[in-house]
Amino acid sequence: MRLCSQPSHPISRLTQAGNDAHALLTAVAAHAPNRTAVSACESLRQILVQQFVPDTRGRLRPRTDKGGFPPGSLQIRSPYDLDTRFAIRGNTRWSGYLLHVTETCDANDPNVITDVATTAPTRDTAAVPGIHTRLGRRHLLPTEHLLDGGYLSVALLEQAEREYGIALVGPVKASGQWQHKEQTGFARDDFTIDFANRQVTCPRDQVTTSWVQAPAMAPYIAAHFRPHQCDPCPARSLCTRGRAARSVYFLPQHLHELQARNRAQQQDPSWRKLYALRSGAEGTIAELTLGHRARRCRYHGLAKTHVQHILTAIAVNIQRLAEQDPWDTAYRPRRPTAFQQYLESHGFSRPLWWRQGK
Ligand code: SF4
Repeated sequence: MRLCSQPSHPISRLTQAGNDAHALLTAVAAHAPNRTAVSACESLRQILVQQFVPDTRGRLRPRTDKGGFPPGSLQIRSPYDLDTRFAIRGNTRWSGYLLHVTETCDANDPNVITDVATTAPTRDTAAVPGIHTRLGRRHLLPTEHLLDGGYLSVALLEQAEREYGIALVGPVKASGQWQHKEQTGFARDDFTIDFANRQVTCPRDQVTTSWVQAPAMAPYIAAHFRPHQCDPCPARSLCTRGRAARSVYFLPQHLHELQARNRAQQQDPSWRKLYALRSGAEGTIAELTLGHRARRCRYHGLAKTHVQHILTAIAVNIQRLAEQDPWDTAYRPRRPTAFQQYLESHGFSRPLWWRQGK
C-alpha cells in the first residue's frame, strides 16, 4: 500500500491494510490447496510481521519508531524486490544495493575493472574480504591495494597481509575523541600502554589497575582509572569531560602497533604519492553511473542486479581497451576531471593528482 504525501487518516488506512493482509493470509492458510500457495504469500507475511504489531486486545497496529521496526539490515523495503535494503551515505538515502568496483592502476596500461561486488547496504569494510577472495581465485591479487578510507580498518590491514600478502594502502580512520578533534587535552596517544604488565600510565604518572577485554567490546581493550586518581588531578579538564574517571580504549598489541605504523606512514610524502594513484578513481564510478546508468536496477533481486553490474563493467572494459592503440605504448594519463580542469585554469597547483608524479 502506498500512501500519498499528505494522506487523510493515514493510521486508519494503514491499519485497514494490515487487517486485509492478515485476513488474506488466514484464508490462504485455511483453504490453500498446497504449500506452494502458502509460500507464495511468505513475503506478505514477513512484511506484515515487520510493519504491524498486535496490541493488548489482539488488534493489529502499525509499528511506529517507538514500536520497534526491525534493524535496517532485515527490513524489507519493497514487495517487488525482497533483497533491497535502506542505505545511507552522507546526505544520500536510497533503497537498493551497494556496488563496489576494483580496477588496475598500472602506470602504462589502461585501467581495467577486475572485480565488481554487489552487496546489500552494509559497512564498506564488509566487501573487502570477498573482493580479495575473488581476485585470488582469478590470480589477479595485487601486491598493493589502494582503498578509500571507508573500506579500511586496522583488522582488515592485518587480515589482508596475513591471508593474501597484500598491503592495503589508505587512511585508517582517525580517532573520534574530542581531544583529537580539537587538538587539545590528553588523547590516547599521550598514555603509555604496557601490554606485558597490562597497565596504562597517564601523563600525570597514574597507573591503571583495571584491564578489561569484554567480548562485547572486541577487539578493543579498556583500561579504567579510579575516581581517587582522577578527581584530585589538576589536569582533569584536559583528560575527561564526564563525571566518571578517565578510561582508555585501545586495540590488542599487534593491531595497536599496526595502527600506529599506518598513521605514521600517512605523514610520509612517499606514502601520499603512492596513495595519489587512487585519485581520479571516482571517474570510474561516474562512468558507470552517468554513462551506463548503474544507479538504476534493471532487474529485481540481488543476483540479477549483480549480473547487470558485471555486464556493465565488461562493457566499460571493452570500451577502454578498444580506445587503446595496441601498438601505442606511450604514457596516457587518465584525463583530468572537470574540477581538475577548473583548478588548472585558475592556476592552482596539483602536486598529488592522478599519475602526476610520473
Ligand atoms: S585525570 Fe586521571 S588519567 Fe587524566 S591525567 Fe589526571 S590522573 Fe591521569
